[in-house]
Amino acid sequence: MTFTSPLLDAHTAELYRSLVTAGVGRVADRIASADRPFTGITPGRLAEEVSAVDLDRPLGDPTAALDELDHLYLRDAVYFHHPRYLAHLNCPVAIPALLGEAVLSAVNSSVDTWDQSAGGTLIERRLIDWTAGRLGLGPAADGVFTSGGTQSNLQALLLAREEACRRADAPARTDVLPRLRVLASACGHFSVVKAARLLGLGEDAVIGVPCDRDRRMRPGALARELDRCRRQGLLPMAVVATAGTTDFGSIDPLPEIAEICVSADVWLHVDAAYGCGLLVSRRRHLLDGVERADSVTVDYHKSFFQPVSSSAVLVRDRAALRHVTYHADYLNPARSAAQGLPNQVDKSLQTTRRFDALKLWLTLRITGADAVGELFDAVIDRAAEAWALLDPDPRFEVVVRPRLSTLVFRYAPPGVSDDALDQANLHAAAALSASGAAVVATTVVDGRHHLKFTLLNPRTTVVDVADVLDLLAGHARAYLGDDLAHAS
Ligand SMILES: *Cc1c(COP(=O)(O)O)cnc(C)c1O
Repeated sequence: MTFTSPLLDAHTAELYRSLVTAGVGRVADRIASADRPFTGITPGRLAEEVSAVDLDRPLGDPTAALDELDHLYLRDAVYFHHPRYLAHLNCPVAIPALLGEAVLSAVNSSVDTWDQSAGGTLIERRLIDWTAGRLGLGPAADGVFTSGGTQSNLQALLLAREEACRRADAPARTDVLPRLRVLASACGHFSVVKAARLLGLGEDAVIGVPCDRDRRMRPGALARELDRCRRQGLLPMAVVATAGTTDFGSIDPLPEIAEICVSADVWLHVDAAYGCGLLVSRRRHLLDGVERADSVTVDYHKSFFQPVSSSAVLVRDRAALRHVTYHADYLNPARSAAQGLPNQVDKSLQTTRRFDALKLWLTLRITGADAVGELFDAVIDRAAEAWALLDPDPRFEVVVRPRLSTLVFRYAPPGVSDDALDQANLHAAAALSASGAAVVATTVVDGRHHLKFTLLNPRTTVVDVADVLDLLAGHARAYLGDDLAHAS
């Protein structure tokens, strides 16, 4: 393969075909042969090799570049399709979505204005309508694809802030902003706090509402916090309920929370970044109440098995999206709106934007929504089986029975101090990852280090889970050594 020009055009279409095919072949080989989720490579070792590359001396030859890439990246990448990758919410991906990825980047549509996207805009709009329909948001619903749950949450809270400012009817925004409050469960996602900062709210703008033992927001506590805000002259701008918390997969009681938001007249945002897969699962009822939200975050790149990025923010009332509309002469929205041209840029925080919707489109058109739902149901079933294994195991303590597909637990044999156990659990996770045999996550619960499984791979079996628990216990035991001997 030789390059006359790097650009894809009528003269190079065949080169494009063979080069991308060669690249896909490399990935397919690695996927087919990965015997571990990770090689355990350290940043130090890899950094040296990456630094040694002279970026001002191109290799010219694509095969040489692919060889180099195989060495620098593919060989030591983290492979989410491996059944013993059990750490984070990044998923194995649906093949139809990869087809979409290949198509959308080569055509390079930008779903900002109609004249940069054409049919892409219509496809994205159909998927937004489809998602809003599954959510039950009603006839005025709308939304837009985003880069991820963080951006979806930011946009939803921006809309809520603008609505709150409008309704506060105060002479100056500067009087309103410091008084705005967002109420989210103490188990909610940190992106809510980040969004509050970006939106110019005060440091204390996000009020953490206490959770029950199952890590679900307590509606009574929410009602009390809302009352307290009112009494103190504060303006509750939004309640953020989480449908699938990142650590526990817990789902806040949406119907009760919706009821409270209606009587308090507060915007309800539901963060279903993780739980959105329930929309297509046989457990759809777990999302009951979501239809009453003012806005919803969904991350297709978590529980719909789509490659990063694929997310959306949905709103009950499309009029709310006007808060992100901006009139730029060169994009000419005023004139194109008059001509009836649909411009997605009017609904988005981004301008140039990937046509990520195509991945979900091809997934729905090739395998369908039920197939996606079955994958998510399978990992939820697996988490329940893993819990049944873990709960009676005297080596471990497990925090809650899973609702979705995460398990938070801790190696905790009797007689060892909490501090020693903290170190042993951290060590076990790190040692396991360094060995490459499996990857698990860690988190902190009530000030104590815990281990976490996030199951998103239907090919992970209970045997995988049992083996990984043995490996973790082995690493922790080895770390504790004498401590453990004295304890028992
Ligand atoms: C992952 C997650 C987010 C953030 O989404 P990104 O796509 O990673 O930006 C927000 N909320 C919840 C509950 C999540 O699990």
